[in-house]
Amino acid sequence: MNRFEFARATSVAEALSLVAEKPGSVWKAGGIDLLDHLKEHLIEPPRVVDLKSIPGLDGIHSDPDGSLRIGPLVTMARIAAHPGIRTTHAGLAQACGEAASPQIRNVATIGGNLLQRPRCWYYRLASYRCLKKGGDTCFAIAGENRYHTILADGACQAPHPSNAAMGLSALGASLVFQSSRGTRTLPAEQFFAIPGKDPRRENAKEPDEILTAIHVPAAGVRSVYASVKEKAAFDWPLVSAALALRVDGGVVREARIMLGAVATVPLRSAAAEQALLGRRLDDATAEAVANAAAAAAQPLSDNGYKVELLKTLLRRTLRSLA
Ligand SMILES: Cc1cc2nc3c(=O)[nH]c(=O)nc-3n(C[C@H](O)[C@H](O)[C@H](O)COP(=O)(O)OP(=O)(O)OC[C@H]3O[C@@H](n4cnc5c(N)ncnc54)[C@H](O)[C@@H]3O)c2cc1C
Repeated sequence: MNRFEFARATSVAEALSLVAEKPGSVWKAGGIDLLDHLKEHLIEPPRVVDLKSIPGLDGIHSDPDGSLRIGPLVTMARIAAHPGIRTTHAGLAQACGEAASPQIRNVATIGGNLLQRPRCWYYRLASYRCLKKGGDTCFAIAGENRYHTILADGACQAPHPSNAAMGLSALGASLVFQSSRGTRTLPAEQFFAIPGKDPRRENAKEPDEILTAIHVPAAGVRSVYASVKEKAAFDWPLVSAALALRVDGGVVREARIMLGAVATVPLRSAAAEQALLGRRLDDATAEAVANAAAAAAQPLSDNGYKVELLKTLLRRTLRSLA
């Protein structure tokens, strides 16, 4: 790890200027993903600015209409254990509670979780100059690709890593960013759509923007998150799904279905939603939804197993909701 200066910010404005002063400087929240990057020499910032010293970014507020305002520094563990979120926005609590291990969840923040970078081993090893590092090759295509995407949406095959992104996107959440240019709010689902398909970026955040709040609308829907992992104790999912449904008289009236660990973004499946809308939650519907979600899959040489895993996960999750 290279030497760097460490600074503690006491306000968002100070955090912005501390990073602007020294180009290449970075913010730290829990530091879990950031430290991996420093240790692997994937980044070599002159200054690391701690956000955890900023008061007021670690609150969970429930508004009278049932919507939530979550600070980016709230830990994954707090969201997973929050009685209100577990009741009204269960899919978000489950997504945060299934990420990593209890030790990591106690330190990792929801903001850092959303902004963590992919786990592709070619990206994580400094010796591979892959597309994410400005190279011209995705080494996963002809290499070791058993954990990579099956619903390719660009040249890079690294699957999106964040559990929180899945839960928040299914619930229609928005993310609030602050920079010297002011404040802007983006729907989580759009945030992860890759701008211009540039493989070096996973989201629409500009380097000088701080995530300052997360807004989650009042639920009014049943939400659920489920995943399949190689190691149940702590691991990123092989496949995951986050669903938010409104069911009236046994019939699905509204549905948002996010597919995880299968594409470079948390992928909203319009085909799966169409197969669910207006239907009863029974075995035939579950089968149709699973088939629709996986219909466009184009697995790589070693990850065809993910297609069946995704279908099984969706069938199982829909049956559990029924
Ligand atoms: C063994 C292991 C298993 C894991 N399994 C999972 C899993 O199953 N699912 C999952 O989702 N994750 C998993 N993770 C990843 C882990 O949850 C993330 O690394 C962690 O959530 C990052 O949060 P952090 O607060 O530590 O972020 P940091 O490491 O502090 O920050 C991450 C990035 O976000 C930026 N950043 C952080 N906060 C802000 C902000 N407010 N504004 C602007 N930029 C910001 C930082 O500059 C940095 O670039 C796992 C990690 C490990 C080590």
